[in-house]
Amino acid sequence: MAWHVRGVVLPDDDVRDLWLVGDRVSLEPVAGATTLADRGFVLPGLVDAHCHVGIRPGGGPIASVTEARDLAIIDRDRGVLAIRDAGSPYPYPELDDAPDLPRLARAGRHVAPVRRYLRDIGVEVEASDLSAAVKEQAAAGNGWVKLVGDWIDRGTGDLAPAWDVAAMAEAVAVAHAAGARVAAHLFGEESVAALIRAGVDSVEHGTGMSEEDIAEMAVRGTALVPTMLNVARFEEIAAAAEPKFPGYAEHMRRLRDSFPAVVASAYDAGVPIYVGTDAGGGIGHGEAAAEMLMLRESAGLSAIDALRAGSWGARDWLGFPGLVEGGLADLVVYDEDPRLDLRALLAPRLIVLRGEPLRR
Ligand SMILES: [Zn+2]
Repeated sequence: MAWHVRGVVLPDDDVRDLWLVGDRVSLEPVAGATTLADRGFVLPGLVDAHCHVGIRPGGGPIASVTEARDLAIIDRDRGVLAIRDAGSPYPYPELDDAPDLPRLARAGRHVAPVRRYLRDIGVEVEASDLSAAVKEQAAAGNGWVKLVGDWIDRGTGDLAPAWDVAAMAEAVAVAHAAGARVAAHLFGEESVAALIRAGVDSVEHGTGMSEEDIAEMAVRGTALVPTMLNVARFEEIAAAAEPKFPGYAEHMRRLRDSFPAVVASAYDAGVPIYVGTDAGGGIGHGEAAAEMLMLRESAGLSAIDALRAGSWGARDWLGFPGLVEGGLADLVVYDEDPRLDLRALLAPRLIVLRGEPLRR
């Protein structure tokens, strides 16, 4: 059984034919293939490179792998065919290759400082145990470690590094030696400066980045997953914290206000930017297109670069090849050209996951 799809295959501007045989793309005609689409705009499957299918809506760990499946299906049905789970309190290695779910790149549990992070989500360790915990979580994930690089310090009433920066730098090296890439949660100024220079693979959020940090990322090729939908909600965090921690609340608002300019600056500097919604907990799944719209409208990415950030570019980054000979057979077809208006992404006409059209 083979399928055939014809359309403008983005990012190129040409009408092309693709054949799908099993879970692979062929650019050579396959006899007897059934045509699924003969017009439209074809994108490799969308990507949410920062979400959490192990955290239930409202917060806290999921109770079963079924809950993770249901959350991933929300993404899938919007055309998000690959996700990077940026930390899960509940392990679900059985979903790594689940035939009906998006491709999955995932960290183990968040590695977090003791009694400072979201309750019941991370493994919480002192600096002396950090490297051992990172090694353990590298083995628990399938290629990524999630490090919580900073969080509120209730003693000082402000954001502060999660551990001393030397311990964090060592932990990054330990993760790399274990074959895992490191995604670091970073809101403030201090940890992000240190962790970029310690060689983290991706800065998550990155609200506190300076121009010097951005220049360093550009040189190193460090990725930025700005999670603009999340940062837009900093007011909720600030308002809740304000009575006890007014300095922190003010800091969070300041970071939020300057953030679109920070992302725009990273974009101008050539930092690789990828789409992440931070779904799980307070943000719903299936919002990758909304994040792409925000990257376009708030941070000034061109439409083609917003598409790259949430489709072929992110897939390459995560190791899920797109619509090339022998690539993975994930694609979405739209009636309208998303390069002209990204809102086209909100209305997929056809979704094909692992070589099979979704029944809708
Ligand atoms: Zn997150």
